[in-house]
Amino acid sequence: MTHPISLARGREYLAIPGPSVMPDAVLQAMHRPSPNIYDGELIEMMPDLIRDLRRVARTVHNVAIYIANGHGTWEAALSNTIAPGETVLAPASGRFTHGWAEMAEGIGAKVDVIDFGTSSVWGFDRIAEVLRADSSHDIKAILAVHVDTSSSIRNNLPALRALLDDLGHPALVMADCIASLGCEQFEMDAWGVDVTVTACQKGLMTPPGVGFVFFNDKAQAKRAAMPRVSRYWDWQPRANPELFYQYFDGTAPTHHLYGLRAALDLIHAEGIENVWARHQRLAQAIWTACEIWAQGGALSLNVADRADRSHAVTALCLSGGLGTPLRSYTEQSLGLTLGIGLGMEDWDGCFRLGHMGHINAQMVMAMLGGVETAMAALDIPRGTGALEAAATALVT
Ligand SMILES: *Cc1c(COP(=O)(O)O)cnc(C)c1O
Repeated sequence: MTHPISLARGREYLAIPGPSVMPDAVLQAMHRPSPNIYDGELIEMMPDLIRDLRRVARTVHNVAIYIANGHGTWEAALSNTIAPGETVLAPASGRFTHGWAEMAEGIGAKVDVIDFGTSSVWGFDRIAEVLRADSSHDIKAILAVHVDTSSSIRNNLPALRALLDDLGHPALVMADCIASLGCEQFEMDAWGVDVTVTACQKGLMTPPGVGFVFFNDKAQAKRAAMPRVSRYWDWQPRANPELFYQYFDGTAPTHHLYGLRAALDLIHAEGIENVWARHQRLAQAIWTACEIWAQGGALSLNVADRADRSHAVTALCLSGGLGTPLRSYTEQSLGLTLGIGLGMEDWDGCFRLGHMGHINAQMVMAMLGGVETAMAALDIPRGTGALEAAATALVT
């Protein structure tokens, strides 16, 4: 009996927008016996870890660490700043903003969502209108998703800060940088972001399970004025621990910390600006290939303007609901897993390429080659020369 030929054997590649590819250095750092949590190396590594996390977020301010995914950091940020009955504004460019807004409803906030759809950046005229109408400053925070991972829209955080300053509106800017941190330029302090939430499994290249909330003095002043903050989510002891266990309000995420240490070493050895430049160049190669495929009429990029596209994830749609079949083909036949079409009306027609974290040019070319192969197998019309053009984009 003969077995059917498979081209999927070999090292598999998970090219989804989180969790991202884990560097061997991260995996190896985690492969060790449990450390003492009361004394020694684990405790001593914390000050440098905190310093190096701040360097990635480009802030000199505080950070609280949670054993949580990104959703946990959404709740953490809200729990420290928004009292029941207070209002938050959520300008939405995709599914993740709605998710954070729902979390705000869950803690008793009034939520004003301005929906810009799934392929447009924030419209600052509409945001300005809402803020101007709020003369009593009921809006306490803007839930600002930097890169919405479902749509691959990147929004302009410095412009949001400038708008608030122009209008003299005191709302906190709370940025979700879960997809963008460690992938593309983000400057918490220089951009006037008051609270930043992020998690470890995307640009920080560590298995899911640890999240971070960075906050400045303005956000801390709001925290101090809160009627109550639930004990576990309270950022105060976590950011100013007197005892080691207070960093985590309990047992430390021991092995995650070793993995994260290795990941931060990789990021800072490369240099954060170089990390951003690498992601930018790789994204340009990906867009170049996609734009050429799109000439065939079946594939389209979700975000029309390059300037509005994330450097960490690319959302694409295929006519005829072929997104899901394409993903099935790459996974089963090629060993390449692509991201599902999240939050889109035509779920099966859309898919996403994750290009965040520990990726290089040959991995991007392999991913693009996998998509080209699947399109050939499924007989999807497409422009020719996409891979060659991507190769050229990598070197120019
Ligand atoms: C991944 C992601 C989240 C959710 O993170 P989880 O760890 O899955 O809870 C939230 N916001 C953005 C922008 C993301 O990319």
